[in-house]
Amino acid sequence: MKKIYDVVTVGAGPIGLFASFCAVDKKLTAAVVDALPYVGGQLTALYPQKFIFDVAGFPKVTASELVDQLFRQVTQHEVPVLVNFKVVEMVREPDGEYKLTAEDGRYVHAKYVLIAAGAGMISPRKLELEDSDQFIGKGFEYVVKNVEDYRDKRVLVIGGGDTALDWANFFTAMSPEVTLIHRSTKFVGFEGSLKRLQKTTCRIFTDTKILAIKGDKQVTGATVSNIKDGTVTELAVDRILGCIGFTPKLGFLKDHGFEIADGSIRADKFMRTSVENIYAIGDISNHPGRIKLISTGFGNVQIALNHIASLIHETSEDETLASLESKVDRPEL
Ligand SMILES: Cc1cc2nc3c(=O)[nH]c(=O)nc-3n(C[C@H](O)[C@H](O)[C@H](O)COP(=O)(O)OP(=O)(O)OC[C@H]3O[C@@H](n4cnc5c(N)ncnc54)[C@H](O)[C@@H]3O)c2cc1C
Repeated sequence: MKKIYDVVTVGAGPIGLFASFCAVDKKLTAAVVDALPYVGGQLTALYPQKFIFDVAGFPKVTASELVDQLFRQVTQHEVPVLVNFKVVEMVREPDGEYKLTAEDGRYVHAKYVLIAAGAGMISPRKLELEDSDQFIGKGFEYVVKNVEDYRDKRVLVIGGGDTALDWANFFTAMSPEVTLIHRSTKFVGFEGSLKRLQKTTCRIFTDTKILAIKGDKQVTGATVSNIKDGTVTELAVDRILGCIGFTPKLGFLKDHGFEIADGSIRADKFMRTSVENIYAIGDISNHPGRIKLISTGFGNVQIALNHIASLIHETSEDETLASLESKVDRPEL
């Protein structure tokens, strides 16, 4: 007989992991799938060693430590965490459940689907620079794989968003010479991060773009130019980090009748999408007042699952909360 989970979550980023834990806490059966070979979404893929300061209960935690804790939390329960499972199709079966099929043909069935797919498939936007790819792994990266590679090095960070500002701030504490270049004078990242950076030794060049990466076996420099007056400057650098955003790739989600707004899925106050029994939580969810943060995504989880639990257990939402509070058995950690 086919196994039908109450809830299957697409995306094992922080929000999908937490959702799968909470689903079982609410007496629902759950599974979570992710296209990547690992869990943690953006935290693992983009900034594993960066500190996070704004998740409740952790004064300071690296992204990878937070993912470890979330994974530990969800695996207290018997929740299948299926990696390398890129959902390419979601079809409603005659009995009303959804069949989610992966690229390699595996599938799972769910009464309710939580879409926690973040920005979709995570793919850093690349610099429009001929031959830049040949320097990847030789001092040029789009994703910091190991912060120690940047210690005591001359670092050039490219970009004006949160990723660029966070990394530039981070590197100033471990590297003697950090430079940030950005194509505009207007930064799109958190203002506090920019102010913090302006108090450090980091050199900040605005209205500046990169023209070429220099080096042979390793990066040795970069040619940059001022967009307004054309001045060209040669920078001697050992490491270059490109942080110019991510290309959102909604992939299969584009074709399933969801209302899409600003590259994400519109959701109502219960996190319901326009498609029956499918909810959108975390970064992918576009609802009034949304903020793309881990803590707000955790909030989405509780709202969506409380609603789903009340439908499955046929209780009011208040009853669902009250009855679950007394019934949950917590295994020893
Ligand atoms: C550099 C940087 C620093 C940040 N710092 C902070 C911070 O300090 N504090 C904070 O609160 N937030 C921070 N954020 C934002 C935070 O990372 C996001 O809000 C969070 O990752 C959203 O989690 P999520 O689970 O919704 O999505 P994601 O983390 O994006 O995870 C989504 C997952 O879904 C998977 N997926 C997508 N499509 C499919 C598919 N078709 N099939 C299967 N799986 C799929 C992806 O592979 C991915 O693993 C930062 C972001 C960046 C880029």
